[in-house]
Amino acid sequence: MDHVLIATAYNNEARIYVATTKNLVEKARIIHSTEPTATAALGRLLTVGGLMVPMYKDNSLVTLKIDGDGPIGSMLVDINNNGLLRAYIKNPGVYIKDNKTGKLAVGAAVGNGTLTVLRDPQLKNSFSSSVNLQTGEIGDDFTYYFTLSEQTPSSVGVGVLVSKEVLYAGGFIIQLLPNASEKTITQIEEILKNLTGITNMFKDGLKTLDILKLLSNNTEKLLSTTTLKYHCGCTKEYYETALMKLDNEFLDKLIYEDKGAEIICRYCNTKYDFTIEDLKKIQDNKKVM
Ligand code: ZN
Repeated sequence: MDHVLIATAYNNEARIYVATTKNLVEKARIIHSTEPTATAALGRLLTVGGLMVPMYKDNSLVTLKIDGDGPIGSMLVDINNNGLLRAYIKNPGVYIKDNKTGKLAVGAAVGNGTLTVLRDPQLKNSFSSSVNLQTGEIGDDFTYYFTLSEQTPSSVGVGVLVSKEVLYAGGFIIQLLPNASEKTITQIEEILKNLTGITNMFKDGLKTLDILKLLSNNTEKLLSTTTLKYHCGCTKEYYETALMKLDNEFLDKLIYEDKGAEIICRYCNTKYDFTIEDLKKIQDNKKVM
């Protein structure tokens, strides 16, 4: 089952997160019918989302947003700290490879643009922070984000191996705590330099705990494990509320010209049909408000 581990390591000088996200990414691939490069890009973003689950407490909702000028356009991942995630991609049909290496060209598919982290967008004390994309490869971009925006020197590694289906997906984040010594920093740098890539480690049979031990040089103290799942959570009521925010003229058009409305959730493809009756009721409720 997909999950994320969080541990402290190096005598409390570092924090390490490790996640396996194969099912999450495969579910996103099926829902959005993504082609391989889009699968890898969205899968990497979902994996960062999974890794970030233990970073937030209470009922936090966090949205990760990538806006690039590459063929993919934009991507969104919503995270709640119970380990439920959902994703959206503007252009799922992107399949481009690097001519030299033959690898999926995620950076080129994403392009230049921005990465935004929105926290609790529905609340008053919401928080949002943006940085420029560094390579569009997602891992590098979040390394930059954590280091710059959250002032936490970090290293983010995420990977998705996809043939027709998703074979392996997962990642890690190592964050240095303010008391990190030179010795620990050098040790971590050495380990990262010799790393073979997350999907290769899974391919070699390593589990998340093995990867944690490798990254921590066996100094890990496991704090918790959280199950990760793709879950949208939308309801007809949610879209009713959304329709209620439209002006009457537009609702009239839906009622008298379109004779109803069909809404498709962009995160899970669930279809909601609103009949003329439904829409008239929404208009009535609007008047009461
Ligand atoms: Zn939905």
